[in-house]
Amino acid sequence: MKLVEYEGKDLFIKYSIPTAKRYGVIKIGEDISKLKIDEYPVVIKAQVLAGGRGKAGGVKIAKNESEAKEIIKNMLGMTLVTHQTGGKGIKVEEVLVEKANDIEREIYISVIMDRKISSPTIIASKEGGMSIEELAKDKPELIVKMPVDVETGLMDWQARELAYKLDITDKSLFCEFTAFAKNLVKVFINYDANLVEVNPLIITKEKKLIALDSKVIVDDNSLFRHKDIASLPDRESSELEKEAKKIEINYIGLDGSVGCMVNGAGLAMATLDTIKLAGGDAANFLDVGGGANVEQITNAFKIILKDPKVKAVLVNIFGGIMKCDNIAKGIVEAAKNVDIKVPVVVRLEGTNVKEGKEILKNSGLKFEQADSLWDGCKKAVALCK
Ligand code: GDP
Ligand code: MG
Repeated sequence: MKLVEYEGKDLFIKYSIPTAKRYGVIKIGEDISKLKIDEYPVVIKAQVLAGGRGKAGGVKIAKNESEAKEIIKNMLGMTLVTHQTGGKGIKVEEVLVEKANDIEREIYISVIMDRKISSPTIIASKEGGMSIEELAKDKPELIVKMPVDVETGLMDWQARELAYKLDITDKSLFCEFTAFAKNLVKVFINYDANLVEVNPLIITKEKKLIALDSKVIVDDNSLFRHKDIASLPDRESSELEKEAKKIEINYIGLDGSVGCMVNGAGLAMATLDTIKLAGGDAANFLDVGGGANVEQITNAFKIILKDPKVKAVLVNIFGGIMKCDNIAKGIVEAAKNVDIKVPVVVRLEGTNVKEGKEILKNSGLKFEQADSLWDGCKKAVALCK
């Protein structure tokens, strides 16, 4: 689960990581008069799940109240397109207002899960602010990597070594930094994060260390033990995806017209590829799971058919542990429960496939049957046209 900047900073504050003074968050329909601002300039930041906001006009500094009002009015409701949003951009529904700081230096620091060594790793650079991807390409020698033991967290000597490598030598800043780095790793480990990134971590003209930005991604599989995170608004999923999540169906909406119901994520991916090969586009990824029963198949049909783009449905199920005749009974039962107005192509393969196909054929319902994945995809794509 991805957190927006202020949600990530809420975690930072809990772990004594210094952030800019916060005046508040303003949503569409509200304005700055709801905040108590004692000092200008302030920085106004679009709260969307994408980086690169600065360059795209999603981070602006206001010198006084009237400037702030104008900026907020224009920013709320705008569609922000950054290099991370894709062409469509993301609508700005909330802005964060903070006290602006005078920046002397910008540093990059993040904690990620390095899968190669199965360990959290700090990535840092004394040249922060800009995109780390570009820095990795242009000046890889400026990037510091440091694996962290998940049992001990960041050791004191590691935090000191990191400070030296980032040219943080001023005595009081040095201590502030080592505490900061250790706390950042604590956020990563304690929240089962996949990523905790601060870009930039700044040193102000007054020689203070401040995490000016935050990017936190928490592993979805750990949400059951992070109720505070699980209860935050889900900003990534569409309405249909949220509905599917509630009934534990793995559904991801896509742009095409072939609705897909598949068992197993690998087979579902192969189905999407084959639909593309056949000249079409899938409307969704959907994995009904290994033990697809009538209830699950019914729910899956309902979710797929709520998408108005769907012109045909392709059911592609491999009967391995479940036998094809049982799956076919499930499909027939489900199809009776749901009002299906588009053609349905079914490709069954595996144990008792002959019996399964007979059940579909004799059901009285209009299923188009396919003998292979390729055949099924071609038929479904043709029916969409
Ligand atoms: P991002 O572009 O989405 O990563 O958004 P950031 O929060 O990192 O902000 C982008 C840039 O805006 C930063 O790298 C800073 O250069 C600038 N910025 C943000 N807050 C302040 C501030 O308080 N003072 C100044 N001078 N610049 C700021
Ligand atoms: Mg940033």
